[in-house]
Amino acid sequence: MIKKILIANRGEIAVRIIKACRELGITSAAIYSEIDKNSLHVRVADEAYLIGPAQASESYLNVDKIIELAKEINADAVHPGYGFLSENSEFIKRIRDEGLVFIGPSAESVLLMGDKTEARKLMKANNIPVVPGTVDPLQSLEQAKKVCSEVGYPVMLKAKAGGGGKGMRKIDSEDQLADAIERAQSEAQKAFGNADVYIEKYIESPKHIEVQVLADQHGNYLHLFERECSVQRRHQKIIEEAPSISIKDEVRNKITQAAIDAAKACDYYNAGTIEFLMDSNQSFYFLEMNTRIQVEHPVTELMTGVDLVKEQIKIANGEKLTLKQDDIKINNHALECRVYAEDTDSNFSPSTGRIIHHRLPSGPGIRVDRGIDLQSEVSVYYDPLLSKVISYGRDRTEAIKRMKRGLGEYQIAGVITNIPLCNWILENKLFLSGEYDINFIEKELMPLIPNKWKSNATHEYENVVSILAALLKDKENELKPVYNCSKTNWIENENE
Ligand code: ADP
Repeated sequence: MIKKILIANRGEIAVRIIKACRELGITSAAIYSEIDKNSLHVRVADEAYLIGPAQASESYLNVDKIIELAKEINADAVHPGYGFLSENSEFIKRIRDEGLVFIGPSAESVLLMGDKTEARKLMKANNIPVVPGTVDPLQSLEQAKKVCSEVGYPVMLKAKAGGGGKGMRKIDSEDQLADAIERAQSEAQKAFGNADVYIEKYIESPKHIEVQVLADQHGNYLHLFERECSVQRRHQKIIEEAPSISIKDEVRNKITQAAIDAAKACDYYNAGTIEFLMDSNQSFYFLEMNTRIQVEHPVTELMTGVDLVKEQIKIANGEKLTLKQDDIKINNHALECRVYAEDTDSNFSPSTGRIIHHRLPSGPGIRVDRGIDLQSEVSVYYDPLLSKVISYGRDRTEAIKRMKRGLGEYQIAGVITNIPLCNWILENKLFLSGEYDINFIEKELMPLIPNKWKSNATHEYENVVSILAALLKDKENELKPVYNCSKTNWIENENE
């Protein structure tokens, strides 16, 4: 029986896990780096332990220290959250070798699905459609030329050990191939310590559709329908929703079945997500499997009413799934906006500082998962995700209206956030139509931005946020400085 969980993470996901522990009557033990000493996750956990300096390699990624601490404080399980050590199979092995419970899948499943070419091979063998391309890593330029001319340009060059969009390159014609392979290999070597790359056909204007699965250690598998995550900038998601409004029922049935087949193919247990690209004919292709909880899991929770983090803990505890597939329904439409500390106005550069004012949205259909509070320090050391505003309604229109109200109520000062950008997206006709694809930000936002933007001239171009504000039809929702405030203009506001 799990009695105490060490949470090997920080920020909003650590807080989310602490809440699940509390509901289950489990003691939560947070870890923190020196710079995080005032962080919310440290304050809300039952216990909190300093693990090291700000650099992640010396704190949140320090395997030896984390395992030593878990034993010292008599934790019986470790929850990795997402990012950091969550998909590190060596970490999982070490935890289990110490007799501790890892709240996630087996090290073998993680290792297998973390290798993108091996994962593609396994999917193919199980009749799950993969994007046409190479099955094994590229051996030579000649082979690359041959494959590319077979699948047809444009193609995507990807790292075997890839993640976070690194080592990924679009190639439009053969003359770009040699140079692109060299660059992608060197980027992959630097980011992942493995230079292997492979080729996929570039899918024009696809949607990013992913399926949430849950599986226990007794061979029971469930899906919790799909999420649509096509609003992305540089392959990183900004707004997600569930369900996808454009997917046809027969395609939904097929894609959810493919996700279950994928999970079974790698003997998966715990919560996992199978990502697909879906083209304009609604043909879908396996992209990758994320063997952990996802940032966007709350939209599935608000759509279905299932608490995924509690399910993760129960599965790790050896319990059987009590839910049956027929219990899982699309009850609501849900949306999530990721609130990042970044300056849209300054080429999306990270914004750092201390949170000097923080007022959260509330009311019907709004949930906020956050890692920050008044006085929290937002530093360059970690991911700039501050919080997530999640809304739900009986239908998409209601969920969007609630999200707009929620973002309108959200006040944050001390760092600059992307809330104005989220507001702009929620007003965009293409977004509202549901017909958007992964090129949405590139196609809809970038043309609004002066050319200077693209040349990294961070302080010379016009104020993009004011362009976005001008586009907002509803005057009530016009951007007030407080949404995007720097320290100075908030103080001005407060004096008014
Ligand atoms: P990573 O693991 O680095 O995040 P993924 O394989 O999950 O990489 O792809 C991330 C994003 O890149 C996708 O959501 C999609 O926007 C884009 N992408 C990936 N592969 C292709 C492809 N073959 N064609 C078009 N876009 C792609």
